[in-house]
Amino acid sequence: MKKLYFVSLFFLSIWGFSQDSTAIKSQVRHSIDELVDFVKIPNDALNADDIDANLIWLRDKFNNRGFNTSILETENLPLFFAALPMDDSKPTILFYMHLDGQSVDPSKWDQPNPYETVLKSKDGDQWKTESFSDLNDDINYDWRLFGRSTSDDKGPIVMFLNAIDLLKKNNIALPFNVKVILDSEEEKSSKPLPQAVKQYRELLKADFLVINDGPVHPSGKPTIIYGCRGITTLSLTTFGPIKPQHSGHYGNYAPNPGFQLAQLLANMKDKEGRVLIPGYYDGINLNEATQAVLKSVPDSDELISEKLQFKTAEKVGAFYQEALQYPSLNIRGLGSGWIGEKARTIVPATATVELDLRLVPESDGTRLKNLVKNYITSEGFYITNDLPTAKERLEHDKIVMFKEGSVTDAFRTDLNNPNGDFLVKTLKSTFQDDVVQIRIMGGTVPISPFINELKIPAFIVPMVNADNNQHSPNENLKIGQIAYGIQTFYAILSTPLN
Ligand SMILES: [Zn+2]
Repeated sequence: MKKLYFVSLFFLSIWGFSQDSTAIKSQVRHSIDELVDFVKIPNDALNADDIDANLIWLRDKFNNRGFNTSILETENLPLFFAALPMDDSKPTILFYMHLDGQSVDPSKWDQPNPYETVLKSKDGDQWKTESFSDLNDDINYDWRLFGRSTSDDKGPIVMFLNAIDLLKKNNIALPFNVKVILDSEEEKSSKPLPQAVKQYRELLKADFLVINDGPVHPSGKPTIIYGCRGITTLSLTTFGPIKPQHSGHYGNYAPNPGFQLAQLLANMKDKEGRVLIPGYYDGINLNEATQAVLKSVPDSDELISEKLQFKTAEKVGAFYQEALQYPSLNIRGLGSGWIGEKARTIVPATATVELDLRLVPESDGTRLKNLVKNYITSEGFYITNDLPTAKERLEHDKIVMFKEGSVTDAFRTDLNNPNGDFLVKTLKSTFQDDVVQIRIMGGTVPISPFINELKIPAFIVPMVNADNNQHSPNENLKIGQIAYGIQTFYAILSTPLN
């Protein structure tokens, strides 16, 4: 068994070597032309005609590669689905990517049109425009393609198509059935997706889901992400006098809603940032094996604090990755009266805090919101869902108006899942490098409800550079990541599961 493993490693490295030199580079060259062509079609999901034009482009590209394709109608914009002919004896991988992009404001970009891709090289701190014809002699993997959705998420779609080309050229018989679902509204929260899974459950049936969106770890190493946090929100308002009052006449007398809210908030956490509300962190248990994976992520907590310019991090976790394993309780906005040049000498009428709670699978969002609510009651506040009436104001000293946002659940696939092991091993042998395994990422992807609905293991296998300016002006894709993406798809699709 061991011998076999070494033999296959040997062949893989031979393969890796020969692929790198010529075949991969010419496929990268082809990918660049195809991506430039794809990016030209605007893809703001606010405009249904744009999405239609993208769907037509995709249908041609997938059909040409032997996929059966269909446009799946939903309650809003349609989804794109493609599959290679099925063989019931093989396991099935479902890939998820998205074709829509964030809106653009061309005035904020360093190029006239964000949909006309520009090739650039780094010149000190500056970016210098290069000619595409310079790619004909040799391709510099450090150069970048600037344009909307080069990274998020058209780049990975093109990498996938070109990996299929290369697999065909090399006559590789795929050990998998391959299905692809492309979302048209990811940047608009993917609202139709959970319902679409119910409607197209049979079509989407697969053994596991691979999501190719977002960037690899900043170290640039091969990365697999097993989950992402969910989110819910709360808005709390405290009340003083019915209208702002002159602070000379009523300071020391009319109760101040700012101090009431400050005291309420101050008692929610200890001085090191840990939530004091009983039960908030219940159910979270990080055993030794999990700790080892968290510690293996090559983050530098020193670099994070240097970059963000703070002296000491909060102590919910002992280090960055550990902190992400817990639900957060974050003040995202805070207001009362006026500030700065507009500050007035008043006792304000209200004070409001906007909270967001990032969720992990152990921390049901509704349960956490109720814990916060119970805590507020235990601090002697009367809770109302609407503005308090005059009667309520006269009956209660301390009132909180409590407004809840909806819950987007977290998702997390077990670190020991065999399909995850397969992906880790495949990346490791392809790139002869450690694979960064992220147990849960801090942010929330809008497709979590879709993932939870599918009820199959899901893994995010990102393809693009971490500094790609995702969602911002000057979005870009490092050309080396195209080679990375093609090799990754190629390896996943050509390696048998066991
Ligand atoms: Zn994306």
